[in-house]
Amino acid sequence: MRAYIVERDALIHNIQTLRRFAGDIPIWGVLKGNGYGIGLLPLARLLSENGVERFAVTELKEAEQLREGGFADNPILMLRSTADPAEINALLDLHVILTVGSYETAVAINAIAGSRADIAEVHLAVDTGMGRYGFLPEETDKIISLYEYMKNLAVSGIYTHFHSAFCSSRATKRQFALFQSVVDKLQNAGYETGMVHCCNSAAFLRFPQMHCDAVRLGSVLLGRVGVSTRLNLKRVGYAEATVDELRTIPKGHTVGYGAGWKAREQTRIAVVELGWYNGFAAERQNDLYRVRDSLRGILHHVKDIFLRRNLIVTVNGHKCRVLGHVGMVNMVVDVTDIDCSLGDKVVAQINPLLVKGLKIQYR
Ligand SMILES: *Cc1c(COP(=O)(O)O)cnc(C)c1O
Repeated sequence: MRAYIVERDALIHNIQTLRRFAGDIPIWGVLKGNGYGIGLLPLARLLSENGVERFAVTELKEAEQLREGGFADNPILMLRSTADPAEINALLDLHVILTVGSYETAVAINAIAGSRADIAEVHLAVDTGMGRYGFLPEETDKIISLYEYMKNLAVSGIYTHFHSAFCSSRATKRQFALFQSVVDKLQNAGYETGMVHCCNSAAFLRFPQMHCDAVRLGSVLLGRVGVSTRLNLKRVGYAEATVDELRTIPKGHTVGYGAGWKAREQTRIAVVELGWYNGFAAERQNDLYRVRDSLRGILHHVKDIFLRRNLIVTVNGHKCRVLGHVGMVNMVVDVTDIDCSLGDKVVAQINPLLVKGLKIQYR
């Protein structure tokens, strides 16, 4: 038996805690990446049952699934700007709010909406440093021409996305000020911006002064945002497996590829069918190229070596260390000091975004 367990109560606790912290400000439940790995529809249902009725997605498919899954009237915001005619048509059919991330996108959406004698509801994206979608802060004139000339667009919101809310309050405050300057300019010139929003999970927790008219929350729903918070959030999701094999190896015997671990004394080992293919110990990121990021990564690694930090799983509720290298589909655990039999329950921490080959099971 192997599964990835999602505890309903923990998720509900988080949603309710976050709603209390948000006060009157509406929450967009961000559902990208199959609901952060725990299932788009199950997460949407729990959100909706607990008062979060707005959803944000990044794929047409996700919007389709929500509408087909019974969310006929809930506001859905597409967080990705698209100029693809087929995609725009399909999104308009589904009454999804589109993101306008550039003047060219605005032209495309306006033309398609016009050809259907339709009005497209849109949110304007402002690029304050993320460098993906959005008008630059100095392009307010372009935004104004959109209000003036694109009669098939109805602006109901404006937003930006923070790149460093988890690590830099200075950078986030700078982005926020830029964003505010654009919003102020538009509003002072008499243009309706609609709902103003900028906070992702980390910013929501760290900068209540930036909550504005709405917040967009993803990772924090699962209690998995890398910033400290006084809110007592629960980390949602863990893998469960069983002890498949139980053996005793003699002193001097080795475990795993490269003989990565050698027994200093006779050791009782359990073999567990969870490996890096399933997402266990697969977390290390390799896509940061700045020198200081690489150095920080190396430092972490060196610390792990000197502190002899082992990977840990629990067997029957007891913490046990993982021996040697984690395999593709299995690992070996030291159970010398605990009571352990075949079939005993093993719990391993895996980020749901990395889970592969395990059935998601709600409990
Ligand atoms: C993913 C995403 C979010 C949610 O981010 P979290 O940090 O997971 O809360 C918010 N806004 C945009 C534009 C996103 O792409």
